[in-house]
Amino acid sequence: MDIERRRRSQISRESTTTRVVRELRLHVNLDEVDGALHNAVLPVNVKELIYERSKCKNENDHDCVICLEEFQEKETIGVLEPCKHLFHTYCITRWLFKKPSCPTCRHPL
Ligand SMILES: [Zn+2]
Ligand SMILES: [Zn+2]
Repeated sequence: MDIERRRRSQISRESTTTRVVRELRLHVNLDEVDGALHNAVLPVNVKELIYERSKCKNENDHDCVICLEEFQEKETIGVLEPCKHLFHTYCITRWLFKKPSCPTCRHPL
């Protein structure tokens, strides 16, 4: 009796999750949402580029001063247009939301 009840409640929980996921898939194209969010939040003075170590001559251009992590080869990063400093797009977007200046050289934006 007890075992039967527990088994039934498990089944109903599973099927609810499955149904919710199926409905979400019907209504939301996750790739589209990702793309829309991404385009909406990238500040106008940040341009995206693919990081290539060999093309970055400047010693300071190999890591992101906001999170202090090194850029990975072929990673998409953001270049701040006025001063050409490099950051992760994610980091600089969040930074500029709080402070309208370059984290490296304080260039006002
Ligand atoms: Zn970073
Ligand atoms: Zn700068």
